[in-house]
Amino acid sequence: MKEQKNHYIKRFISYYKPHWKLFLIDMVCAVLICLIDLAFPYATRVILNDLLPNQQYRYFFLLMAVITVCYVLRALCQYFVDYWGHLLGVRMEADIRKELFCHLQKQSFTFFDQTRTGQIMSRLINDLFEIVELAHHGPEDIFISLIMLIGSFTALFVIQWKLALVLLCMVPITVVFIVKKRTNMGQASRKLKEKTGNINSALESSISGIRVAKAFANEDYELEKFLEDNNEYRNSKNGFYKAMGTFHAGVETLACFFGFFVLFVGGLLIMNKDMTVVDMLAANLYVASFLQPVRRLGNFVELFEGGMAGFKRFVELMNVEPDITDKEGAKELKNVKGDVTFSHVTFSYEDAEEGEKEVLSDINLTVSAGKTIGIVGPSGGGKTTLCHLIPRFYEVSEGNITIDGINIKDVTLASLRENVGIVQQDVFLFPGTIRENILYGNVNASEEEMIKAAKEAMLHDFIMSLPQKYDTIVGERGIRLSGGQKQRISIARILLKNPPILILDEATSALDNETEAKIQQSFARLAKGRTTFVIAHRLSTIQDADEIIVIDHEGIKETGTHEELLKTSDIYQRLYYGTERSKL
Ligand code: ADP
Ligand code: MG
Repeated sequence: MKEQKNHYIKRFISYYKPHWKLFLIDMVCAVLICLIDLAFPYATRVILNDLLPNQQYRYFFLLMAVITVCYVLRALCQYFVDYWGHLLGVRMEADIRKELFCHLQKQSFTFFDQTRTGQIMSRLINDLFEIVELAHHGPEDIFISLIMLIGSFTALFVIQWKLALVLLCMVPITVVFIVKKRTNMGQASRKLKEKTGNINSALESSISGIRVAKAFANEDYELEKFLEDNNEYRNSKNGFYKAMGTFHAGVETLACFFGFFVLFVGGLLIMNKDMTVVDMLAANLYVASFLQPVRRLGNFVELFEGGMAGFKRFVELMNVEPDITDKEGAKELKNVKGDVTFSHVTFSYEDAEEGEKEVLSDINLTVSAGKTIGIVGPSGGGKTTLCHLIPRFYEVSEGNITIDGINIKDVTLASLRENVGIVQQDVFLFPGTIRENILYGNVNASEEEMIKAAKEAMLHDFIMSLPQKYDTIVGERGIRLSGGQKQRISIARILLKNPPILILDEATSALDNETEAKIQQSFARLAKGRTTFVIAHRLSTIQDADEIIVIDHEGIKETGTHEELLKTSDIYQRLYYGTERSKL
C-alpha cells in the first residue's frame, strides 16, 4: 500500500521535470515572499525597541525605504507565483491530458464497449483539474508553511522563549484538528462531486430524451426522477457546508486562543518584568504570520487527497494496455488486390457480467478480389461482428483472417484500416462543415477531388443549393440532414478514401424505399472494382452479389447465389419471402 503510494508520488513528480526551471523560479519567489513576511514583525520590533527610543531617525527612514522596496519585490513575486505558478500547473495539465488522450486513442472497441463516455470525460476534465491544483499549490503550500512555521517560531524563541514554548504546545492540537476536519470536508466534497455528476447525467438524459418523454406524456415521471436526484444533491450540499462550518468555526476559535495566550502569558511575563510591551506586540504579529501557514497546511491536505485520487484514476487508466496493437516488426499493407480469407475464425465478446460470449464459430470464407459478397442472417446473428474483424476492431479468438494471403495481424493497424472502408446504418457526422466531414475520408484530398466525390455520391447539387454550400455547418447547431443525405456524405467520404475493401453494413436500412433505390446506384458505383461485403436487411439489395452467405450464431449455414439459395435454402426462402411480403 505504502509502496504503491510512493510510486504514485514519484510518478507525479516526474511530470515536473520538463518544467523544472519554472518550478524553481516559482519556489524562489514563494520563499522570498515568506522571508519578507517574516522580516516585517522583526523590523517593527527594532523600530520600537531601538530606533525610536534612541532617536536614530536616519536609520528609521532608511528602514522605511527598505521595507517599501521589499514590498514592491513582494508584489512582483506574488504576481509571479499566482500567474506563472498557475501556468506551470496548466502546462503539466496539458502534458497529462495529451498523454491520456493519446492513450485513449490506442484503445480498441472492447475498451469503449466497457467504459462509459461520461467517466472518460470526467477523467479528462475534472480529475485533471484537481491534479493541476495539487501540482501548482502542493509544493508551494508545504514549502511556505514549513518556512513560515519554523521562521516565526525561531523568532518567537528569540523574543521570549517561555511564551514560545506555551504557543508551541498548542501547535499539535491545531494541526490535528485542521487535518482531521479538512479530511472530513474533503470527503463531503467528494460526495458532493459524485452527486453533481449524477444530477448532471440525469439532467442530460432527461433533456436529450425530452421528445420521448413528451410523446408518452411522461413529464411527471421525469420530474419525479429528477426530484430524487435533486434532493440527494441538496442533501450532500448540506453535508458539505456543515463540514465547512465546523472547520471554519474551529480554526477561527483556535486562532483566537493563540492571540489570547499571547496576551495572557505575555501579560504574566510583563508583570514579572520578563518581557517588554514591544516584544508582546512583535509576538502577536508572529502569531498572525504562523497561523496563515497552518491554514495553508489544511488546504494542502484537501488538495492532496483530491489531486492524488484523481491522479490514481489517471494512472489506472494509463495502465490499461491497449489489447489490439501493432505486432513487433509489423509491415505496411500495400498494393492491396483484395482477396480476403477467413479460416476457422471463432470469436467471442468479453462481457463483464456474462463472461465470454461466442458469436462466431469456425467461419471459413474466401472472397476473391473485386467480388461482392452478401451476408444475410437473423438479427444478432453476428453479421456486423464478422465485418468488424476485418479491420481488427476486435481480435479473432481463434483462426486467421488474411488479405492477399497476408495475416492481418502481421501488418500495421494504420495501413490495414486505410485499406478497409465501412459504411454503416447510422452515419456519424462530426460537428463542423460539410467539407470537413467529407474530407474526413482523406484529409489531404484537394478541393477538386472532394467535389468529384460529392458528385459521384450524388450530393453536389444538394450542397450547392445550400446558402453556405460546402461550408454549411452540420450537427446540433447546424442544419439537420435527412438519413439519405447523411448516407451520401458517408459515401463521398469513402469515395475519397478509396479503399480496395469495402463493407456496407445495413447501409440503407434506415432509409425509405425510394431513397434506398436512389442510393443503391451510388453503392453500385462505389462497389465497382472493390472487394465488397454487403450486409443487407432487405434482400432485394444483394440479389446481384457474386455470392451470398447465410449466417447465424452457429456459423455459415448456406452459401450460393441468390437463385441457388432461393431453390435450396429454407432459411433464405424464409428471409426473402418474409421481408418481401412485409414490404407489401
Ligand atoms: P447482427 O449484425 O447480425 O445483427 P451483431 O454482430 O451486431 O449481429 O451481434 C451479434 C451478437 O453479439 C449479438 O448477440 C449481440 O448482442 C452481441 N454483441 C454485439 N456487439 C457486442 C459488443 N460490443 N459487446 C458484447 N456483445 C455484443
Ligand atoms: Mg448488425
